[in-house]
Amino acid sequence: MDDYIPKYIKEKQQGGLLKKINQASSLLASCTLCPRQCKVDRTKEEKGYCSTGKNALVSSFSAHFGEEPQLVGDHGSGTIFFSNCNLKCIFCQNYDISVRGMGQEADDEKIASIMLHLQKIGCHNINLVTPSHVVPQILKALNIAIDHGLNIPLIYNCSGYESIDTLCLLNNIIDIYMPDFKFWEPDLSKKYCHSRDYPHIARKAIKEMHDQVGNLKVDKSGVACSGLIVRHLVMPGNLDGTHEILKFIKEKISPQTSVNLMSQYHPMGDADKIKELSTPLTPEEFRTAIDMARRLNIEIIR
Ligand code: SF4
Repeated sequence: MDDYIPKYIKEKQQGGLLKKINQASSLLASCTLCPRQCKVDRTKEEKGYCSTGKNALVSSFSAHFGEEPQLVGDHGSGTIFFSNCNLKCIFCQNYDISVRGMGQEADDEKIASIMLHLQKIGCHNINLVTPSHVVPQILKALNIAIDHGLNIPLIYNCSGYESIDTLCLLNNIIDIYMPDFKFWEPDLSKKYCHSRDYPHIARKAIKEMHDQVGNLKVDKSGVACSGLIVRHLVMPGNLDGTHEILKFIKEKISPQTSVNLMSQYHPMGDADKIKELSTPLTPEEFRTAIDMARRLNIEIIR
């Protein structure tokens, strides 16, 4: 990966990582890590909306070849799937992991060893999937892994439902942010993920992420080393929302933002309880979404 040095290396050398670990860990005692603001004492295994106590749970880790080509390269993106979620969309495509919490408890040393294993097998990056509710645990694991030679970019692959204070703790730690921007309409986000404020929160969070890392940068071989990728899962019957999200990204984030428009929606979890979510996205709807992006001159990746 050319000469790119991940941000967290310098942050640790300058003493910033330890401060961030202390600040993030202190949030667990009355948890305000994410916008749910549950204020439960996770150090005593009290559980809030994300159903996660003191330790993180990991459902799987591997060299993943299904992510964006800029993350996969020749050797894969080193995904670590954290169990549970602070959003819990009712149609989640990983429902068993995000809502039912399938996975094994993993302490800081275990997560560090997973990071080092993924680097050892040649992954181009560490891809933290659904990390928002376990940021202190990730920072502590990162500190251990750096001491054992971790030196590949860190990806924060999240739902977009993030606290700005927590994101500030990740400044100079995360190399690549990859948030979803799921819904534009508060009524829909209330219905689909119990959070009327999701669109407002996601707009602020994506702006903060872009301020921290800028647009996507790739090395000579086309593999990403830093920047922002926004994912948007096109939803059946909701192309107006897609259009508003694309316009927001272009006008308020950056016209050069890398966007992955995703077509794979199909009913999962409790989606069949809601009429408009009970059918897959049609090819025509997806083509219309792609045309919208092209008309706005947005860079679609994949
Ligand atoms: S991280 Fe979990 S417990 Fe903490 S505020 Fe968010 S949902 Fe609640």
